[in-house]
Amino acid sequence: RHLFICGGTGCHATGSLKVKDALHEEIAKHGLEEKVRVVETGCNGFCALGPLMVVHPDNVFYQKMTVDDVAEIVSEHLVHEKPVERLMYKDPQSKKRVPLFSDIPFFALQKPWTLRNKGIINPESIEDYIGREGYMGLSKVLLEMEPSQIIDEMKASGIRGRGGAGFPTGMKWSFAAQNDSDIKYVLCNADEGDPGAFMDRSILEADPHAVLEGMTIAARAINATEGYIYCRSEYPLAIKRVQIAIDQARSLGLLGENIMGTGFSFDISIYQGAGAFVCGEETALMRSIEGKRGMPIPRPPFPAAQGLWKKPTILNNVETLANVGQIMLNGGKWYSSVGTENSKGTKVFALSGDVNNIGLVEVPMGTSLRSIVYDIGGGIPKKRKLKAVQLGGPSGGCIPEDHMDVVVDYEEIAKVGAIMGSGGVIVMDDKTCMVDMARFFLEFIQEESCGKCTPCREGTRRQLEILERICEGHGKPEDITLIEELSEMITASALCGLGQTASNPVLSVLRHFRNEFEAHIFDKK
Ligand code: SF4
Repeated sequence: RHLFICGGTGCHATGSLKVKDALHEEIAKHGLEEKVRVVETGCNGFCALGPLMVVHPDNVFYQKMTVDDVAEIVSEHLVHEKPVERLMYKDPQSKKRVPLFSDIPFFALQKPWTLRNKGIINPESIEDYIGREGYMGLSKVLLEMEPSQIIDEMKASGIRGRGGAGFPTGMKWSFAAQNDSDIKYVLCNADEGDPGAFMDRSILEADPHAVLEGMTIAARAINATEGYIYCRSEYPLAIKRVQIAIDQARSLGLLGENIMGTGFSFDISIYQGAGAFVCGEETALMRSIEGKRGMPIPRPPFPAAQGLWKKPTILNNVETLANVGQIMLNGGKWYSSVGTENSKGTKVFALSGDVNNIGLVEVPMGTSLRSIVYDIGGGIPKKRKLKAVQLGGPSGGCIPEDHMDVVVDYEEIAKVGAIMGSGGVIVMDDKTCMVDMARFFLEFIQEESCGKCTPCREGTRRQLEILERICEGHGKPEDITLIEELSEMITASALCGLGQTASNPVLSVLRHFRNEFEAHIFDKK
């Protein structure tokens, strides 16, 4: 038997390490060490229910365990073969227990491609990763494919950057491959900083080798020799596990000099960011690695021509890179068989806010937001009504209830005034004040503006002042027009994406909930 206990940051915070230790002790007491293996996995995904555990092969899911529950689990379930019903998942709608893990809608309706190893492997074991087809994509690439074929396969997959902008990954790689240079770099953007987003952290904590494999394949495609994972220092567990993975890969000859004896060399280091949101912007991220202040610089030249230390560089997000090994192994066509015409594959979302099932979700592109919130998310707590969903964090927008049938697709989401973003989905029920929500995101952006250019630094400050007075009941009739004019000016003239998208949340609230702004100003509500 295997006991897969969640060891993601969320479950660590709720005490899963103590439960794990208690399990070891209790198993030893009953002399079951030979028959039961306790595996600390990365984030299982159902973050709201931790500490949680899946018993294999019984297919039983236990939630909200405490140290006090352990003796009962071991004696009843492991010794007497009677699973402990009171710790099983309870459906929020029907209030009934769901005995089997695979029957829980939160898991059953997902398509875990990027998250294929979450909750199944020990992220600190390279053997576990290899046992799940790990590094087979890299082997294929190094032994059977030319660099140009790697890029062709990436283009065939149709995968687009999962960091938010959605630029085709294969095309990005082809630009860097065309530029000759003695040194080229592959960077992984793990500077996830959007409020409500935890996809990249969870992937790094659960499956760090998948990211290393993706980076090494990217390096082979563009002929790079060095790579950096830029990870915010607020992610200590992710950093620890990635470093262990790097050391393991080096020790097996899967990273470093002469990988697999093929003559190809590539190595990866971790660079810890200090938590500035703007360092998720590619030019700011590269300047930060160079030891300079993390501020964006104008483009062109683009990083594919002159990136880190002015050398050709590609920067991909964690989620994008985690898919590369499987794309190489199964082919671009396999990946593109799922999704919509212009958005292929799957997308990972961090589902949070006023929703029953908070956690990590992966669905095929083309899935409706309604299905994510209701079928997987289990709907809104306390039988309240859904008001809107904020998609894309502080650069994104809100999508009201009557647009919930929009599907996960870069272009379709943009049509309703939001962006796919990196994948934060914040659900809001009918008691949410949308003007207050817009103020929250603007406050975040204002604090995170690096201050380099006036439209962003000063413009967002003025916008925030206006929003604050509206929220406090001192709004003026001309305020809505002022906000719109400022938004237009900031979007058109800010230097980087942070400023260019800073007004998105407030504009989308104005688009869908203008009446709430007017009620604050004219009715002083
Ligand atoms: Fe800095 Fe904002 Fe200008 Fe970007 S738009 S460079 S964050 S001041």
